[in-house]
Amino acid sequence: MAKLTIDPKLVQAKELNVELLKQLQVFQAHPITQKYWALGGASGWLGTNTTTIRTCPDGVGQYQHFVNGSIYYHPSIGAHEVHGLIRARWQSMGWERSLLGYPLTDESACPDGIGRFNHFQGGSIYWSPSSGAWEVHGAIRAKYSSLGWERSFLRYPLTNESTCPDGVGRFNHFQGGSIYWSPSTGAHEVHGAIRSHWASLGWERSALGYPTSDELVVFGGAARISHFQRGSIYWSPTAGVRVLKERVRVHVKILETPVSFTINEQFAAMQEVYAVAGVRVDCASTENLNLPTLKDVDVGGCTMGSVSSEQIILFGNRNFVGTNDVVVYFVRSTVPGYNGCAAHPSGRPGCVVVRSASRWTLGHEFGHVLGIHHVNDNNRLMTGNGTFNITNPPPDLTSGESSTMRNSSLTTPL
Ligand SMILES: [Zn+2]
Repeated sequence: MAKLTIDPKLVQAKELNVELLKQLQVFQAHPITQKYWALGGASGWLGTNTTTIRTCPDGVGQYQHFVNGSIYYHPSIGAHEVHGLIRARWQSMGWERSLLGYPLTDESACPDGIGRFNHFQGGSIYWSPSSGAWEVHGAIRAKYSSLGWERSFLRYPLTNESTCPDGVGRFNHFQGGSIYWSPSTGAHEVHGAIRSHWASLGWERSALGYPTSDELVVFGGAARISHFQRGSIYWSPTAGVRVLKERVRVHVKILETPVSFTINEQFAAMQEVYAVAGVRVDCASTENLNLPTLKDVDVGGCTMGSVSSEQIILFGNRNFVGTNDVVVYFVRSTVPGYNGCAAHPSGRPGCVVVRSASRWTLGHEFGHVLGIHHVNDNNRLMTGNGTFNITNPPPDLTSGESSTMRNSSLTTPL
């Protein structure tokens, strides 16, 4: 509290004047009263008081109610006003004895210029005309904050933090999605078509469980993915929503950088096709290999089970990759010239892809690695006529091909 200095001229004045009284009054006024005056007093928007200043039920702070709101004071925080629907929400939760505790701010305008909020010791209440007033707190609030509050795609909360039907986790729904939290997964957002599909499966009680990631961009392309405890949900403009329950772990070894399509573009294309089979493509590592003599690798007839001495040397460069992981070697060319070749030594699953390969070569070659064979149909990934000739992208996988891929020992359940 500031030290009171009394102007000596006032003391000397004949009449103990009004100015001195005012100064004394301000100095001695309760912080709630000071806040009330700062907001305009009885002629301000709070209106007249409806109670005296009282001690809060928790025995720590004080409060005063007014016609249009309340001022709450905590000794280590100070005095802040709450009013309107935010106050009503806080009241419904139990005022200062709720998990929110005391207000840390007055009601304030949100940066988007639409809504209003109060921050509290234990969380926040957000209000907007279209959503109403709801609280967010804890790890869910931290996620909401990290995404940019109401200016994120989530916009405003539509619920308080609520217990999930499984009795384990917690969630808030927002105008643009949801944040789900559980003790073992933490808090993650889920939104859009992926959220709709997860909801249709039964939220956290579905086979997928809780989200373990926010929605992520897939290999830098237009597709999106959210990971869950027991699978992923993938969405792309062409494939729509797909549940992925298996994955293939791919390691990238670069002898020569691709020139027609970036590695990311090739992976994005592969994932788009493999999503139809319910298989997630994970790029587990990327390594540059300085093997100049293998850049134009002899692949012989490129037949499964028959490899050249150069293929044996090349595929020997697994470098601690797991037994069921697959490796793609990006090379300059094959001899003879192909887009790629999936023939590989036993126990070293992988393929080579040349730098001028098509968008679909990577997925095609790994199709061979996972056990599917050429067909004479240019609408399909496994066309034997060259993937540059694919006519109606993305190319198709049949249900038989999909189940062969899922049953491969190189795909593992999520
Ligand atoms: Zn082929």
